[in-house]
Amino acid sequence: MPVMTEPAATAELLRQDPELAEILLGETARQADSLQLIAAENFMSPAVLAALGSPLANKYAEGYPGARHHGGCELVDVAERLAIDRARALFGAEHVNVQAHSGSSAVLAAYAVLLKPGDTVLAMGLPSGGHLTHGSPANFSGRWFDFVPYGVDAESGLIDYEQVRAAARAHRPKAIVCGSISYPRHIDYAAFREIADDVGAHLIADAAHPIGLVAGGAAPNPVPYADIVCATTHKVLRGPRGGMLLCAAELADRVDRAVFPFTQGGAQMHTIAAKAVAFGEAARPAFTAYAHQVVANARLLAGALAAEGFGVTTGGTDTHLLTVDPAPLGVAGVVARGRLASAGMILDTCALPHEGGRGLRLGTAAVTTQGMGEGEMARIAVLLSGVVRGVLDASTVREEVRELAGRFPPYPA
Ligand SMILES: *Cc1c(COP(=O)(O)O)cnc(C)c1O
Repeated sequence: MPVMTEPAATAELLRQDPELAEILLGETARQADSLQLIAAENFMSPAVLAALGSPLANKYAEGYPGARHHGGCELVDVAERLAIDRARALFGAEHVNVQAHSGSSAVLAAYAVLLKPGDTVLAMGLPSGGHLTHGSPANFSGRWFDFVPYGVDAESGLIDYEQVRAAARAHRPKAIVCGSISYPRHIDYAAFREIADDVGAHLIADAAHPIGLVAGGAAPNPVPYADIVCATTHKVLRGPRGGMLLCAAELADRVDRAVFPFTQGGAQMHTIAAKAVAFGEAARPAFTAYAHQVVANARLLAGALAAEGFGVTTGGTDTHLLTVDPAPLGVAGVVARGRLASAGMILDTCALPHEGGRGLRLGTAAVTTQGMGEGEMARIAVLLSGVVRGVLDASTVREEVRELAGRFPPYPA
C-alpha cells in the first residue's frame, strides 16, 4: 500500500468511512471559516501535518535513541535525535526530552524528578491563571502535593514578586512553579530564580504558552533560570500536540527516566518527527517575524478592545494573549463568549484578577499564522465589541467573519 498524499488519504477515508470523513472535513471547514482566537491554538504547517500522519505512527519505540526496547528503531532514532538537537539549539538548552505526550505530562515528569508526594509547592493559584497541573484538586498535582498559591495584584493584574517572596519564606516550598494559562505579561524568570535560591527551592518554569515566542526571540527565555522548563509544542510554537522538557545536562538522565519509564510508555514517533519539523521551521527568520507579528497583533487587539470599553487586564500584553473584562459593557463573560461563538469568533472565558466574574481570553497565534495583520485586528475588535454589546447582529457578523477568514485560508488549496 503506497503512502498517500493528504488529499488522496482524505479521499480514501471518504470512500471507506464517510461518517468519520464528514466530521473531518466539517472540522477543517469550521477552522477555516471562523476565527480561532483561543490563545492555546494554532495552525500547524502541512509539513508538520505530513509527519504527524505518517507511518512513523506505526512504530513502537520504548526507550531512547540507541537504547530501545524494540527492534527496527534505526530510523526513528535519527528522527528523535534530530528533534532533540534542533530543540537544544533553538532554546540554548543542554538537554531536551521530546517524548512528553503533552504539556501536562511534561509537568508530571518534572514533579517526578524534583518532588516527593506530600512536598510543598508554590505556584500561581488557579483563580489567578495557574494551570490544572499547578495544584487543582481535580488533578494529580493537587492530590499528591501540598500546593500553596500565589496570586496577582487585584488592581494591576501583575505578579507581585514581593508577595511571592513572602509566601516562599513563610512556606519554604520544595519547588516554585512559574507559568500561567492567562498571564499576558513576560515573567521575570531572574526574579523567580532569586526567590527560589533565597529559600532553597527548585524552580520549574511551565512555559507552555510563551515557548513559541521564546523560539522567535519575542519573549525572555526561561532556560538559563529554571531547573526544568516544561512546555507544549502546539501553542504559539505551531508544532504537533505534545510536550517537552528542557534542563541542564546534570538533570538529563533523571528527566528522561521521569518521562519513560516512570510516567509514559512508548514514544509517539510520528509526533516526535513532527516536533522536529516544527523546530526546523521555528529556527527560520520567517518564524522570528511571525512571533513578533503575533505580539504586535495582540497589542493592537488589546488597545482596540480597551478603546471599545473592555477592561484589559494589566492594561495590555507583552505576548500572544490578552484577557479582557466585558463587565464595563454590561455583559458577563460567559454570555459574551456565547454571543461571539454564534458570530464565528471562537475564544475562551478566563478568571480575572479581581474576585468574581469571568473575562475573555484571546490569542493571536492562529490568526497571525493565517497572515492577518493590523487592519484585520482593528476590524475584529469592532466586530467583537459590537457582538458582545448586542448592537451588531450575530448572523450578519457571522457572514463578515466568514468572508474575512476566507481571505486568509489556513491551508490554501
Ligand atoms: C497548555 C498548558 C499546559 C498543558 O498542556 P496540555 O498539552 O493541554 O496538557 C500546562 N501548563 C500550562 C501553563 C499551559 O498553558
